[in-house]
Amino acid sequence: MAQTTSSALDKALADHQILNEFYGPVPKAPRRTPMRELISTLLSHRTTHADEELAYDRMLEAFGDWPGVLAAPLDELIHAIRTTRWPATQAPRIQDILRRIQAETGGEFTLDFLADWPTERAMQWLTDMPGIGLKTASLVLLFNFRKPVLPVDAHVHRVMQRLGVLGPKVSVEKAHEVLLTMLKPELDPEGLFNFHKHNYWHGQQICFFQRPNCPRCPLKGFCNYYTEHFGPATPEALAATPAHWDAAAWGKLPH
Ligand code: SF4
Repeated sequence: MAQTTSSALDKALADHQILNEFYGPVPKAPRRTPMRELISTLLSHRTTHADEELAYDRMLEAFGDWPGVLAAPLDELIHAIRTTRWPATQAPRIQDILRRIQAETGGEFTLDFLADWPTERAMQWLTDMPGIGLKTASLVLLFNFRKPVLPVDAHVHRVMQRLGVLGPKVSVEKAHEVLLTMLKPELDPEGLFNFHKHNYWHGQQICFFQRPNCPRCPLKGFCNYYTEHFGPATPEALAATPAHWDAAAWGKLPH
């Protein structure tokens, strides 16, 4: 299949099938609550995971809960989230987001009402909030509510461009629409979730920005980047490719 895969859709579906086998099934339980997913992802922009977690934990330690964060003096909130990249920008955004959630629910700090909303309405409502783009909104809607959307981050984007699923000029923002239009008729929300997670891992663990680890990659048989740099994948190169992610040798994959 990999040797004859040529159209963007064929490549995306081959990627899905092969990475599904390579990385295995992804745990279905959401990794965090919807509120935490939303605020943590906001804090994560251009920030390491460790610093994002530190900012989130310090914020809740300092102010106790969401009403406390909303009522916090701005300078103290900025100080609490100082490990994030732009604390002075993110702090008023967090309080604005909390105000909007409170207004929508009549007082509670929950996003559970989104479960009953149509996907387009939920997406619009989230992306109207300050600092919330397509990626963050899609993460919340897919991870927590299993809506049929597809978050595209830098890792997913890079893998898709190198394979030739996306053209070289398609931005991360535009890729949300292009990939979802392509894959929504083919994959249910569980499939979209696995597609996102597998390609995220692949970009993070193998298809690095600099010097991708192509010998370890099971996608080399239909990857444009590989062909351009090494020529068509040989039977020997394909046969030498590991069949599965080896957690014992290469490390545990992030949740
Ligand atoms: S063959 Fe190399 S460039 Fe292509 S997807 Fe795999 S790691 Fe990335």
